Amino acid sequence: MSLDSRQRQATIEALKAQTWDLLVIGGGITGAGIALDAATRGLKVALVEMQDYAAGTSSRSTKLIHGGLRYLKQFDFGLVKEVGQERAILHRNAAHLVLPEKMLLPIVKGGTFGKLGVRLGLWLYDWLAGVKPEERRVMLSAAETAATEPSLMRMGLLGAGLYSEYRTDDARLVIEVIKTATERGAVTLNYARVVDLLCHNKILNGVRVEDGETGEKFEIEAQVIVNAAGPWVDGIREKDHSLTGKRLHHTKGVHLVVAHEKLPVKHAVYFDVGDERMIFAIPRGPWTYFGTTDTNYNGPLDRPEVTAGDADYLISAVNRMFPQAKLGRSHIVSSWAGIRPLIHEEGKAPSQLSRKDELFYSPSGLITIAGGKLTGYRKMAEKVVDVVLKKLPKDVGRPWASCQTATISLAGSISVGAGQPNGLVAQLVQEFKIDEREAEWLAGLYGSNAAAAMRLGEGNDRLAVLRGALRYGIRVEGVARLGDFFIRRSALLYFGRPWIEASLPTARAVFAEEFGEGYDPDPGMVFANAYADALRFEP
Ligand code: FAD
Repeated sequence: MSLDSRQRQATIEALKAQTWDLLVIGGGITGAGIALDAATRGLKVALVEMQDYAAGTSSRSTKLIHGGLRYLKQFDFGLVKEVGQERAILHRNAAHLVLPEKMLLPIVKGGTFGKLGVRLGLWLYDWLAGVKPEERRVMLSAAETAATEPSLMRMGLLGAGLYSEYRTDDARLVIEVIKTATERGAVTLNYARVVDLLCHNKILNGVRVEDGETGEKFEIEAQVIVNAAGPWVDGIREKDHSLTGKRLHHTKGVHLVVAHEKLPVKHAVYFDVGDERMIFAIPRGPWTYFGTTDTNYNGPLDRPEVTAGDADYLISAVNRMFPQAKLGRSHIVSSWAGIRPLIHEEGKAPSQLSRKDELFYSPSGLITIAGGKLTGYRKMAEKVVDVVLKKLPKDVGRPWASCQTATISLAGSISVGAGQPNGLVAQLVQEFKIDEREAEWLAGLYGSNAAAAMRLGEGNDRLAVLRGALRYGIRVEGVARLGDFFIRRSALLYFGRPWIEASLPTARAVFAEEFGEGYDPDPGMVFANAYADALRFEP
């Protein structure tokens, strides 16, 4: 089954046509990872997502594949080791998307970390994660730090640690995992909301789904159901009458984007805010983004907003660490807010809550996975599928494979090294006679699939690149609405907002060609609202 949005009805028929070994609720990174792991072990797996893939928390993170220095502070060495090692695996499997990024940890007078602490902490961090000797942390003096990162404040600067992490595009990571799962036989559908759980003799055996395009309801049967609904997992547990014991604790995290020239960091910088919190400033092409906040959240889960208070908190933290930036709200070019699905612990402040994942089992058979990180999605999936296999009847006549995902390249992956991705960019420039910047953009989004996208563009100007990317999105990546493309497949809402207005007429024309005249690519004005929200800071 393909992810072609024009074939939606065929996908629905396929979902209805058989009893699945596993049905996954939620198409964020957790659900996507589980679908891929299960499909590669030989399970018949289906996945439904009520919005677009990654429209929940998985498109609203700091976009880092990181080992988690915070776990080191909590002496959770096992977790540091596991997550740290995971970074290299993800880089190997998705080299176009999980990119090495040097991270600078400045040491300042009166800050959380002293020189010795950083020296030892980062050494341990690298050692636990098995970082290659040439990539291990380097300690810098104050003068070296200032030369490495000239925009940093000089007063009270004692030095820095420069160490290895990885950055990614979270929503693209999800879609590449979904694409790879689909190639391996999983059937997935976005805009398909689970509205009811179905039982036989008090044991779950399916779900009722509402099709977000037509409003029609249909049923999907499955032997095992996994609830990977992120911030919404408790809503599904409620439908299952199993919302007892531990519950979710939602906290909100905000990021702001400015032009890189306004905050010209050369590396990602991870710095102290002064209230026991740390924030990141991360360069991304002509932009720099920074965040995050961590505050309790009780608002609507599908439309968390950036308030003026959130923006001012981050802006003043940046202005303290980078005094020449002199940022104000007017410099913000985009923003996003995401909800952390953490597990509640009595009396703990948001930033003290554990980021570990946890499984909940219900008497009906529902398996819920909550908490966790983008970085650990592959290991989480392995753990969940191990449990799923134990629940499946033993006489299916098909031996289940062990976890395969450590060695499975994701869709679009390019080989590490060998001049990549520069080789790919040069190839695109030569083959399609496009501008180098457009080629870099395509290569960054699609990796080895960039040429396939570009072939659909007809022409070689900027709008041709857009047409190719959008048609590829509709035919190969489940794009059905404006926001699917502009927010999650291309991230243009965050990193390229000025380009959106100029490209909207072309985008609407492509939707009309692909789906027929009269097709509404923005029902409920979801994208129009997101476009406005990214620059609206209400009190
Ligand atoms: P989600 O991505 O929210 O996916 C759940 C999906 O379930 C949603 O798409 C939702 O629409 C769907 N769903 C819900 N109900 C239903 C239903 N009834 N029917 C069908 N579908 C349904 N981690 C890192 O590793 N690195 C980082 O840099 C990082 N930074 C972060 C920064 C912030 C501000 C936040 C908030 C988190 C960050 N994280 C980071 C954590 C990481 O983003 C999350 O752990 C991860 O994205 C959660 O993924 P998920 O799939 O569990 O949830």
